[in-house]
Amino acid sequence: MLRTLSPALRRALADRVRYYNELGIYDFYRREPAVRESPDDLAAEGIDSSLALSTALQSETREEMVARKFTVVAPVAEGTSMVAHIPRPEDGVTDPIAALKIIREDLGECTRCKLHKQGRKQIVFGVGNPRAELMVVGEGPGSDEDAQGEPFVGRAGQLLNNMIKAMGLQREDVYIANVVKCRPPGNRTPEPDECDTCSPFLMRQIATIKPKVVVALGATAAKNLLAMNSSLGDLRGRFYDFKPAGVRSNDPAWPGARLAVTYHPAHLLRDPRQKSEAWKDLQMVMKYLGLKAQKQDA
Ligand code: URA
Repeated sequence: MLRTLSPALRRALADRVRYYNELGIYDFYRREPAVRESPDDLAAEGIDSSLALSTALQSETREEMVARKFTVVAPVAEGTSMVAHIPRPEDGVTDPIAALKIIREDLGECTRCKLHKQGRKQIVFGVGNPRAELMVVGEGPGSDEDAQGEPFVGRAGQLLNNMIKAMGLQREDVYIANVVKCRPPGNRTPEPDECDTCSPFLMRQIATIKPKVVVALGATAAKNLLAMNSSLGDLRGRFYDFKPAGVRSNDPAWPGARLAVTYHPAHLLRDPRQKSEAWKDLQMVMKYLGLKAQKQDA
């Protein structure tokens, strides 16, 4: 049932939504009121509306993160929850090059998380074919990537290029991005708050490119994309249905991607014995995409 919000509550909500949009968050999920009383209900009971609003927003924020995370394995049932789709700046832009440009502009000279003041030289947005059937997602830029502004250009990048070639593709055929777009100091693993702040932009890149397959390289990418905390060994070896939050389940333009998990190339450099396992993961992807293996020199 539609209810009228007071002008003050409306304004406060609009401000809050604007704030989330600036963080790159455009989708808000709210379960049916059976779960929790709405701010109006609370207000009607004489509870201060700002407290009611803050309660509602806290729960919505939490639910939004949960819903975003679980889109992969347990999509929000559109029949049982309310999904508020607030238009993203790139919505309705059909050319993926233009849409990616809009997302990049929205990211700006990002200061949303602490990585911006921990020695990054530049933001490493992503590179490759904006209409790629295959998208690969790593963890975050290292020093070479930070210097050059492009993902996977160092030693791990050379191995990734070889993996892509072995699949019968060129680097330019795929789109390459990371969970975080700024180099974590000392190449440490990005922290959960950094991943949570940055991943809405990655989700928007994926929703724009609409790949058939996303390959998550390593545990950070796998856990952030799938919102599952299992070990890499448990996560690899199968496909997951993947749809970034905010993409409607019946979107005729894109049914979503299949997501596969494999070892990060940097891990394979440290432990080359795992290369045969990684090759099995890539062969699963190749079979789905109808790709033929390419002979490698080395
Ligand atoms: N490792 C990553 O995860 N991403 C890069 O871009 C480079 C190294």
